[in-house]
Amino acid sequence: MSSIDLHSHSYYSDGVLSPTDLLSLAKQQGCQIFSLTDHDSMGGLNEAQQQADTLDIRLINGVEISVLWKNRTVHIVGLGVDKNNILLNKGLAEHQQFRQVRAQKMAEGLERAGIKGIREAVNVLSSYTPTRTHFAQALVQQGVCRDMKTVFKRFLVGNKPGAVSNQWASLSEAINWIVVAGGVAVVAHPFRYRLSQAKIKELLSDFKEAGGQGIEVVISHSSDDEITQAAKLAKHYGLLGSMGSDYHGWQGQNCKLAALNPLPNGVQSVMSVL
Ligand code: MN
Ligand code: MN
Ligand code: MN
Repeated sequence: MSSIDLHSHSYYSDGVLSPTDLLSLAKQQGCQIFSLTDHDSMGGLNEAQQQADTLDIRLINGVEISVLWKNRTVHIVGLGVDKNNILLNKGLAEHQQFRQVRAQKMAEGLERAGIKGIREAVNVLSSYTPTRTHFAQALVQQGVCRDMKTVFKRFLVGNKPGAVSNQWASLSEAINWIVVAGGVAVVAHPFRYRLSQAKIKELLSDFKEAGGQGIEVVISHSSDDEITQAAKLAKHYGLLGSMGSDYHGWQGQNCKLAALNPLPNGVQSVMSVL
């Protein structure tokens, strides 16, 4: 039996651990094939590769790209990408730049709303580019909100003080970056976008048309029902099934690295092309 985890985060985005520590934890969990998929960043991949070599784990180069699809943000994981590809690096650099601008605007908005010291608090929490998660964690730490979900609701969406409209690449652009870099594009956590069944189908159909090849079928918190549904969608659209924990290492996050349910029968694994 081989343990595979193809979705995780280090402190190069909004995870807690260094790539080195993440790989060590994966090894402890018996993981043999692992992918680090930081948000819009491949900054941790060199370090991850070094540790993977030391621990004899097969590292699949990964990245999780935020994209715009019909005015919504959707996450696309790129697996098996060439981390030196120019087009992909250029695209991610633009996303990183937007993330910097967004963090600045979020801080200004929150300060105007009377929240003091948010920049400093976020800087303590984030090692590289601050994400919305870092802002949410800071507000929880300051006692402004009781949990991250509440922060998003009260401050970070719609016309709330810390909300910033997103300027990601389109779905097809980001898929193109991944494909040009020799990778496989995978729709991350398909049921986390609160899309109707009809919208999910529209998304997958657009995704497939743009050259996407996979869908996450098993993630950490998948219910049996969600796994069954995702498997059905994978088969219907001829998509490969992926599996990843989306581990961040946050305190209190009930998420284990490399401890996923198996892919259901009849779904072809994304590993078949990696
Ligand atoms: Mn994240
Ligand atoms: Mn995601
Ligand atoms: Mn993720």
